Amino acid sequence: MPLHQLPGEVWLHVLSYLSVADKHSVRATCKYFKQFVDCGLLWKDWTIILGFPKGSYSRQFWETLRRRKINHVVVRSTKEKDLKQLARGLPSITSLVMDINSQESLGYLKYFPQLTHLAVRYSSNSLLLDASTVCEPEKMTHLSICRVEFPSKSRQRLDFVFQDFVNLTSLVCHDTGISAPYILTVILCRLPRLKHLSLTCGSGVKGQRVPASFPGEATLGLSSLELIHCDHLLLRETMKLLPNLQTLVLVYMYSVYDVPSQLQLTASEDMKTWLSGLHHLSTLVIKLGPRVHSYVRFIPVSVSRLTLRVPGLNSGEFASVASQVPNLLHLHVDTWPTHLGTLAAEIPQLFPKLQSLKVRGEHVSEEDFLGFQKMADLRYVEMLDSSPQSSKVAAKLQMLTNYRLHVTMSHQRDILECHCSY
Ligand SMILES: [Zn+2]
Repeated sequence: MPLHQLPGEVWLHVLSYLSVADKHSVRATCKYFKQFVDCGLLWKDWTIILGFPKGSYSRQFWETLRRRKINHVVVRSTKEKDLKQLARGLPSITSLVMDINSQESLGYLKYFPQLTHLAVRYSSNSLLLDASTVCEPEKMTHLSICRVEFPSKSRQRLDFVFQDFVNLTSLVCHDTGISAPYILTVILCRLPRLKHLSLTCGSGVKGQRVPASFPGEATLGLSSLELIHCDHLLLRETMKLLPNLQTLVLVYMYSVYDVPSQLQLTASEDMKTWLSGLHHLSTLVIKLGPRVHSYVRFIPVSVSRLTLRVPGLNSGEFASVASQVPNLLHLHVDTWPTHLGTLAAEIPQLFPKLQSLKVRGEHVSEEDFLGFQKMADLRYVEMLDSSPQSSKVAAKLQMLTNYRLHVTMSHQRDILECHCSY
């Protein structure tokens, strides 16, 4: 049967099921399929990583990307000439992740008028990224700056630096030389649409005066806050001003085993203050930090999605968590470098309503792992480590539940995110 007797939409539907490698094999067969494989519908939301390994890409390469309507790009090069080539080859991109080292390279952002998502990372020089850096700051909705220090002169006027990004809904500021309380109390007032904010707390940041009172209620819309290395006393007051948070992520630098008891005490006091009063919290993520028993009774009952990445979690603490959040639907528990061991056997009884579960399979017996089939509502299990043995047990668990339960090995990290919270 001639290929064109099937309607184009049918071919597109068939091709959409193929892996990238298979799509490319089909593309190589004839002009007819080349045209279909390069259709933008098949590459929707696709991200391409450009390393410029041979210095430059051909004209046909850029043409193909434009035909496929590729709009998300990660650049693995800090060379100005590579960014120049990207600006010429693919000016319509909306999402760009790049490592950068000079103010001149940053200047090439001006050539991407459609940019809505921007992540700039890992600069050994201080750089100023403000609204004048991009072509249309009001189009920007997601801005991520990780390990790029702002020049010390500009830090005092950062509220003006950010004020033209009026439509930002997500802001990540990691190790920018700006303190977290300063960002919370000053910059947020300039960003009324902001929903998600991720900060490292910047210990030892000097010369940034934090106002005693909060200038307005502009931040009350913030629903998601991520604090990394957040043992910072000044945050206690500012956190009280965010009662509508639905998601809170707390990533500590140390676990209970690494720090003196006084620091632990301060950290658990902070945690209690932060958690108290968050009546709308539905997602809580805690990595390292003080002993679970020191804050467990402050975890809001409204939490339905909980991640605990805490070494040394014991049976008593696990049971306290279960009684504090009886309606938990999603649990991610990881006690690495210690082992979950026999605590896995307690999960079905402690958390009977779970719909999804993420655990490390190492040192969990096959019997305990297969015990997850007892949870009637459980639909999804993700194993955070993979080995031939765990793949076998995963397959067995799926079979025993007649494939009601979907078991996967650990997912890959989102390429658009930085490494800070992992
Ligand atoms: Zn980061």
